[in-house]
Amino acid sequence: MSLYRDQAVVLRSWKLGEADRIVSLHTYDNGKVRGVAKGVRRTKSKFGARLEPLSHVSIQMYRGRSDLDTITQVETISRFVSLRGDPQRFARAQALLEAVEGVAQDREPDRVLHVMLVKALSTLAERDSGLVVAAFFLKLLAHEGLQPQLDVCYRCGTQAELVAFDLDDGGVLCRRCRRGRPVSAEAVDLMRRILGGGLGSVLAEESTSPSGASTEVEALATALLEHHLERRLRSIAVLDQT
Ligand SMILES: [Zn+2]
Repeated sequence: MSLYRDQAVVLRSWKLGEADRIVSLHTYDNGKVRGVAKGVRRTKSKFGARLEPLSHVSIQMYRGRSDLDTITQVETISRFVSLRGDPQRFARAQALLEAVEGVAQDREPDRVLHVMLVKALSTLAERDSGLVVAAFFLKLLAHEGLQPQLDVCYRCGTQAELVAFDLDDGGVLCRRCRRGRPVSAEAVDLMRRILGGGLGSVLAEESTSPSGASTEVEALATALLEHHLERRLRSIAVLDQT
């Protein structure tokens, strides 16, 4: 039983009883943690407002015997205000949070994942693009050891005519081996560049000459992550409606 400090992104929150709120956090040092903020719904405290989903915060928590830690102090690092005003942007940010909620394990420290999330939210705050979400999903899968095979046919190893992508295989397939969904050479190239660390240049190009390959990559990255999580992402369903 102890008091600790950490930095965290609020993934989601829900009501507990009359006055309390439970928040799911992804922290820098302690992985995914659930904490209870006591009394925040009774008093209109700043404390509660600081724990809205999406916020990047510095927290102090008390870890007792239960699975739920008690949040004792919260300071805002960033609220990512620009992501909150617009429904599409907000849904994209939510998709990142939902992916981390689904993939991260309770109390399993993962600093790489934490930094990836904060960076992706910052990038999305600067540039509203579905490719930021797609890139995050692809990198998240790679981080989980599930990097899609994009260089050669998953089945026969040829580099020529890669025309399909199969979610079960998690890789591209040539014309002879094809199954799953069709994929364009441009989309394969875009995914290779994103996973090779080239998201910055991909985004710069997209802003001057948008291509259909972006939409294709967004759909494929979402399908891959949902395949891994074995469920649909709620926030993506919201995005599909906007
Ligand atoms: Zn093949």
